[in-house]
Amino acid sequence: MSTGGGTRAGDGPGGREGCLAVLIKAVLRTGVQALHPGYGFASENPDLAEVREDHGSTSVGPSAPVIDRLGDKVSARALMAEAGLPLLPGGVEPAAGLEEARALAVETGYPLVIKPMAGGGGRDTQVVRGPGEPAAKYRQPRGKAQGLFGDNRVYPECYRAAARHVEIQVFGDRLGNLVHLGEAALLGAKAAEYTGAGTFDFLVDDTGDFYSMEVNCRIQVEHPVTEVVTGVDLVRERFRVAARLPLELSQSGVAPCGAAIECRQRHGPRPRPPADARPGRGVHRSGGTVRPSGHGLLPWAPRIGGQRPVAGQGDHLGPRPRAGPGEDAPGTGRIPRERSRSAYEHPLPAPRAGRSAFRRRHPHHVAHRGPHLTGAPRMTIDQTPRATGSTTDVCVIGGGPAGLTLALLLLRSGVQVTLVERATSMSREYRGEILQPGGLALLDQLGVLVPAAARGGYWLDGFQLVERERVLLDIAYDRLPAPYNRLLSVPQRHVLAELLDRCHGFDGFRYLDGHRLSALVEEDGAVRGAVAEGRAGPHTVRAGWVVGADGRFSKTRRLAGIGADRQDVFAFDVLWFKLPQEEPPGRHVRVFRAAGRPVLVYPSYPGTVQLGWTLPHKGYAEMATLGVETIRSEIARAVPAYADRLARHVNALSDFTLLDVFAGRAREWVRDGLVLIGDSAHTHSPLGAQGINLALQDAALLHPVLVEALRDGDFSAGRLDAYALPRSRDIDQVMKTQTMQAKAMLSQGRVARVVRPRLAGLVQRTPIGPKITRHIALGNPAARVRSDLFAPG
Ligand SMILES: Cc1cc2nc3c(=O)[nH]c(=O)nc-3n(C[C@H](O)[C@H](O)[C@H](O)COP(=O)(O)OP(=O)(O)OC[C@H]3O[C@@H](n4cnc5c(N)ncnc54)[C@H](O)[C@@H]3O)c2cc1C
Repeated sequence: MSTGGGTRAGDGPGGREGCLAVLIKAVLRTGVQALHPGYGFASENPDLAEVREDHGSTSVGPSAPVIDRLGDKVSARALMAEAGLPLLPGGVEPAAGLEEARALAVETGYPLVIKPMAGGGGRDTQVVRGPGEPAAKYRQPRGKAQGLFGDNRVYPECYRAAARHVEIQVFGDRLGNLVHLGEAALLGAKAAEYTGAGTFDFLVDDTGDFYSMEVNCRIQVEHPVTEVVTGVDLVRERFRVAARLPLELSQSGVAPCGAAIECRQRHGPRPRPPADARPGRGVHRSGGTVRPSGHGLLPWAPRIGGQRPVAGQGDHLGPRPRAGPGEDAPGTGRIPRERSRSAYEHPLPAPRAGRSAFRRRHPHHVAHRGPHLTGAPRMTIDQTPRATGSTTDVCVIGGGPAGLTLALLLLRSGVQVTLVERATSMSREYRGEILQPGGLALLDQLGVLVPAAARGGYWLDGFQLVERERVLLDIAYDRLPAPYNRLLSVPQRHVLAELLDRCHGFDGFRYLDGHRLSALVEEDGAVRGAVAEGRAGPHTVRAGWVVGADGRFSKTRRLAGIGADRQDVFAFDVLWFKLPQEEPPGRHVRVFRAAGRPVLVYPSYPGTVQLGWTLPHKGYAEMATLGVETIRSEIARAVPAYADRLARHVNALSDFTLLDVFAGRAREWVRDGLVLIGDSAHTHSPLGAQGINLALQDAALLHPVLVEALRDGDFSAGRLDAYALPRSRDIDQVMKTQTMQAKAMLSQGRVARVVRPRLAGLVQRTPIGPKITRHIALGNPAARVRSDLFAPG
């Protein structure tokens, strides 16, 4: 269903609002599986996106929160600035009045452009050329924006007269993969956690400088231009993303080639419409249309004669650009000039002075003619401020459990630490919440456990395997030595925030949040530091040791050229989701086995139940095609007690988070000047909830070895063998246990079903049970905080 074609968006009673109401009604009545909101205003309406998801229809396009984040120019500009993209000098906040706008000009000079916060595409803006200009220049866009968008906020920005408007398409799937069809936009898209197709608008001025302008949460109207230049079927990808399938696109597969132009026909007065002209309705007569033809043009797809174009959006006539290797690009003189004239009669002046600078830097882009181009210019982020640098003892990449714990241990030992973390807040995408006794003990020794738990969490008694209402296996933690004889379900951000607070108490701590590792500094084959890319530009940290603690997809590992062996030893992946808690929180992490596939269930603070439905490994794509209802009823078969809540609260595939379950191991953990810890060194299945424990224990076990190496000024890999070799054996053991656990608890075969109850009984009655429990709960019991190494005070 699309507002761009079949449905006449904005044409019905009540204009846009009326049209949205019609669409929403149609979604509710028809129960459509998916709704493609077209290329216009409906695609950027968060309410419509929400209705789509809430009513079980998949939203083809970004989710409501992403639209909210980017649709509002105030938050979008702030986000782009945070992502390190240059903005034109101007207000990130709306200006309250003309005086405020004039105040900007004191700093930047005239001309300024006053722009509505709502809307886009340069509509209803006013250029203020000097201080004597009338106040109407400010009031007019305000009034127009109020009338058109119901939002009268405006903001001032420096005006670039001879500028080009460049749009860059990005694509993200719901598994975190993002590709760009023009490099600069990716920074912004990552910052916004963008999914689906989106358009990032830039302004390139006559010196070749470029600025982030705005973000449109939709596929471009001009997307065929991008499709032709890149050979990517964007609409197909869009539907794949909506179906929660991974992108088929890969960045290396996007190779822009050639140039393309799309022509539009305006249904309005000709030849030069007055400034306030709007596209109008009228009957299209194909005989009256000049059809572009000739070398380099694809076949024309005209409207059917007599068809009535839709006001406000009907000015596209089957865009048919063309480009390709070895072909002449349109605009190079091969299209009959009179037929393509309108494409060149653009009100903006062609770039003059400074063009050569831009041409030198972006030859691909300058190959195009005409001032308004869409496509895939190759931009490099060369406009960021000058690089800065600093020196420290240890540079830790990644502020997760491993990185922050190690940072705190080192700081307390008098070591200087710079921590590079890409996020600017403690909220992570859904990550581990269950803390095991071994980890609890370490956090307690660091003085972090009590305050983290006080922020809110649930204490649990252990693990249970439940088959058809019967507890087959009870791994009771009260057998363990007190006080660490329970599990804690706690939001990871509570723990991270407490660790970070303590790090901030040390002068030797530098926290580069909002910075991503972009390169390692290497000299003579040894790592000597890291480059962190943030909104203020690149920052080079020179360090004795660099610690890669940046998680399962570690960039540190990749940049160091260290391979990771991925072992697909588990036969399942997990679809995670939360439901409201309607009963007192349970006391166990439970695996429910009945009909259907096993489901993990535990209470998750605050007031929710976390469920993880196990599905066949790599089976999600196929499962997704069956739709949310089928998945829901499969889950309800396994946990009938949650059937009602499932029906009420899980309405779209986007309510699930897919975890690709694998075990992984970096081939080396230590290089001269570099060490990997936590998930970046070894990644685990979530079964048994040991990832955080292992990350914390890595930090505790590495700490004394690293302090000693630093004291001796020894940065050679061999110096850390005392950590890496025994730790490697621990990890092998954990991986073995997890594989066994997965087989025993989750395998589906008939033999397994018969053997499981007997095996469970045996484990409980013999010393094997307590041994496994201790192993899972405590990890390496020798891991403890070496407070004897802490500096006095
Ligand atoms: C869905 C899910 C559920 C889980 N459930 C549990 C559980 O219940 N119990 C449990 O013990 N374990 C669980 N785990 C595993 C656990 O979350 C991890 O093992 C643990 O968080 C690893 O800690 P870490 O510090 O090594 O890495 P992470 O927690 O992944 O932290 C890595 C940090 O590095 C940052 N980073 C990444 N790339 C860069 C970069 N290029 N530049 C700068 N910073 C970067 C990230 O933002 C992040 O803050 C779960 C994992 C998942 C995915």
